[in-house]
Amino acid sequence: MANKRDYYEVLGVPRDATEESVRKAFRRLALEYHPDRNTDAGAEDRFKEINEAYQVLSNPDRRAAYDRHGHAGVAVANGGWQGFEGIDTLGGLGDIFDAFFGGMGAGTQARPRRGRDLQLGLTISFEEAALGTQRRVEVTRTEPCGRCRGSRSEPGTSPERCRTCQGNGQVRRSQRSLFGQFVQVVSCPACRGEGQTVTHPCAQCRGRGLEPRTRQLEVNIPAGVEDGTRIRLTGEGEAGVPGARPGDLYIDLRVQEHAFFRRQDNDLLYELAVNFAQAALGDTVKVPTLQGEEALRIPAGIQSGTVLRIRGKGVPHLDGGRRGDLLVTVTVVTPKDLDPEARRLLEALAKKLGAPDGAEERRRPPGWFRGGKGRSS
Ligand SMILES: [Zn+2]
Ligand SMILES: [Zn+2]
Repeated sequence: MANKRDYYEVLGVPRDATEESVRKAFRRLALEYHPDRNTDAGAEDRFKEINEAYQVLSNPDRRAAYDRHGHAGVAVANGGWQGFEGIDTLGGLGDIFDAFFGGMGAGTQARPRRGRDLQLGLTISFEEAALGTQRRVEVTRTEPCGRCRGSRSEPGTSPERCRTCQGNGQVRRSQRSLFGQFVQVVSCPACRGEGQTVTHPCAQCRGRGLEPRTRQLEVNIPAGVEDGTRIRLTGEGEAGVPGARPGDLYIDLRVQEHAFFRRQDNDLLYELAVNFAQAALGDTVKVPTLQGEEALRIPAGIQSGTVLRIRGKGVPHLDGGRRGDLLVTVTVVTPKDLDPEARRLLEALAKKLGAPDGAEERRRPPGWFRGGKGRSS
């Protein structure tokens, strides 16, 4: 007990503070340190300390004993009173808080609850993501009952005013505690704060007001979405309690891989194989795009790995701006299985061409690196 802080110091009030200013100080500090509101380390200990100080200073007898004998006087006066532990008879911190602040802490008031959000996964093709599409999804959710329209009462009947709370939705509960007598305002247990009771529950929903429904929804998927894009359908989640708005439906998109396109932001990547003759002489070839084939001119003498750009044949920007491009990486494929004639032609060509420029310096002794290209380092 020797290390306990002075109760006046704990509440930050002078020794001659009035009951009213003690109460005000407690209220301010309790609001600040209540564990429901303050998650700082040590807030709960501080809250207990504040409570303990208030229990003593708010009671004239105990306060007098404390003034005369300090902490020891209070402990003796209460027959070994254990401080904060006594408060647990009230049912925990939330109740104390409610007793003082009318439920603003732990929320005993019934307030409209928004419906739950729902989430669905949807797999779409690469093309659908790039070009946009309409898809139908099926969602099972709670909706207001079709028979009672969410009122919970059988049609033709109406709920009665709650007798327990006289329609207020709240009841006052007197409680004796270490603080003295408190009047606690709590949500009416009979009607759960609604102020009325259903006397003839709806036969279809058994008085729940809600029922499960499976719906088909059209989802508009804009062009340019990517794997992982989340689409929100506002108000298409579960119904809330009557008067509250429904939740939202979130659709998480999975985009399938394409057989030969890859995507880099809004550009499409495509790899085009050409043979040695096409690369050397140039050619015009057909390349696929998302909307049919497109002619692409390959300039004579192109090197393997060169990227050719076809403007505007990529994926549209989600905001409706311009499209990305189609980037065609040209790969020169070296022939493997030559027929005798092709072989003869290539041998003739080899004599004609000689070694590429700079090959003399790059030449290495045979077998210096198996499969190496002889590139200088
Ligand atoms: Zn119903
Ligand atoms: Zn009631």
